Amino acid sequence: MVSRVIPVDLFDLVIFGATGDLAQRKILPGLYRRFHAGQMPEGARIIGAARSDMDAEGFRAQVTKAIADFVDPAKHDAATIAAFLQSLDYVSVDATGEGGWDSLKAKVDPARINAFYFSVAPMLFGPLADRLKAHGIAGDQSRIVVEKPFGRDLASARALNATLAAHFEESQIYRIDHYLGKETVQNLMAVRFANILFEPLWNAQYIDHVQITVAETVGVGGRGSYYDKSGAMRDMVQNHLMQLLCLIAMEPPYHFDPDAVRDEKVKVIRALQPVPAADIVRGQYLGVKATAGRAEQPGYLADSENPDSRTESYIALKVQVANWRWQGTPFYLRTGKRLRGRASEIAITFKAPPHSIFDQEEASWRENVLVIRLQPDEGMNLKVMIKEPGPGGMRLVQVPLDMSFAEALGEDGADIPDAYERLIMDVIRGNQTLFMRGDEVEAAWAWTDPIIAGWEARGDRPRPYDAGSSGPEDALMLMHRDGRRWREIRE
Ligand code: NAP
Repeated sequence: MVSRVIPVDLFDLVIFGATGDLAQRKILPGLYRRFHAGQMPEGARIIGAARSDMDAEGFRAQVTKAIADFVDPAKHDAATIAAFLQSLDYVSVDATGEGGWDSLKAKVDPARINAFYFSVAPMLFGPLADRLKAHGIAGDQSRIVVEKPFGRDLASARALNATLAAHFEESQIYRIDHYLGKETVQNLMAVRFANILFEPLWNAQYIDHVQITVAETVGVGGRGSYYDKSGAMRDMVQNHLMQLLCLIAMEPPYHFDPDAVRDEKVKVIRALQPVPAADIVRGQYLGVKATAGRAEQPGYLADSENPDSRTESYIALKVQVANWRWQGTPFYLRTGKRLRGRASEIAITFKAPPHSIFDQEEASWRENVLVIRLQPDEGMNLKVMIKEPGPGGMRLVQVPLDMSFAEALGEDGADIPDAYERLIMDVIRGNQTLFMRGDEVEAAWAWTDPIIAGWEARGDRPRPYDAGSSGPEDALMLMHRDGRRWREIRE
């Protein structure tokens, strides 16, 4: 299968924070990949902006290194890299100062699509928005892209929305949640709404429960003091896991249109029930002592440099969506650091058939499970019961119908665009479907705030768990007491 690359219109993209980690690791390599694929039109310009004093050549040298480090060597042909570097420019500006803005203005062509990517700390979003408007650089058609975190609670998210709304219409604001840029996440919508097969079964009558897992093997070392003010609930659940839950639980939108999709997602968030303390398990990873083949690894308290921290590096929750479709079907969410394996997946477990015509003992029956893998190896897998091959009588076994996108798409599959590059192209195309709307973010915080306030008021301490495990024991109990089991996190 050959995927079509449709070039976007001519644009000027300004990246504030262009010298930072995100820009160097994801945004600029991603733009290079789009250029290499022929999606970035000739003449489009990328203007890096940060305080560092540098000229365009200095910036090109940085980006050359970023391409070398973060782009597949198969795409390293010298002529393409040289052509891409020609599209780069740089301007030194301070988001909180007045120098450099006139030179930026001179570089941005108002006749083109222009977009401003705020890849800087959130406290700079307001000052950047102020200056882009005050200096007449951004106009009514300009787009701004803002990174996470979007607030740390409802009050700060509202304040941030108000700051941006003072200068930009909602239709100009692109709030990034890079999970929404993943191929599989969009495929979830295609599978649900472009096939008749699943939607009639997509409700509490046929679905027993849903599990959403985002497991990481890394700890918080390196950004421990930042993470300690956030924790797994704010850093992962309020945004990424919530977005995945919305796409599974939402009603079919009337059209695949940004506001129609986002209207349905907001309805799901508003239908989320408060979560009682008994349905929440928080954890903190322990350190690992040095052994023959392995170096010592610090625990969360050392990584966060806060020996008394009560911040969770792991959380599991049982969430109920209170509406007709989902009444009685729980959504179990879990995410954590320093776990056994790195995996992001959604597993939808269907109910068992109402009556068995086979003599096989019940214990060997397995329910149908639809697994949507976000990483590693994006794809889908539907577990079905079939007859065990051979003449041994009618014995049933469960087998996976597996679709790895990389395999299904053949050569192109190896070239699935990274979430960031896809989302940036959507910004240029002016398509907000995969970006969070202001009211959506606020609704998510409105659900999250009381959960956090609850454990803070109770003075709950997170449960310790071993690094390299599946999380705290209590999280297993969260499922066991309902007669269910978490799916295994593989190494
Ligand atoms: P970072 O490595 O600290 O980079 C910050 C960038 O901002 C640098 O280019 C810095 O360059 C620039 N900057 C700092 N103060 C400035 C000012 N006053 N005026 C203009 N530019 C200024 O941060 P990052 O990790 O790239 O993160 C950027 C944003 O993305 C943050 O909102 C973060 O939460 C979000 N994010 C990052 C990741 C990630 O993987 N890194 C993932 C998700 C979200 P100068 O010092 O030269 O000014």
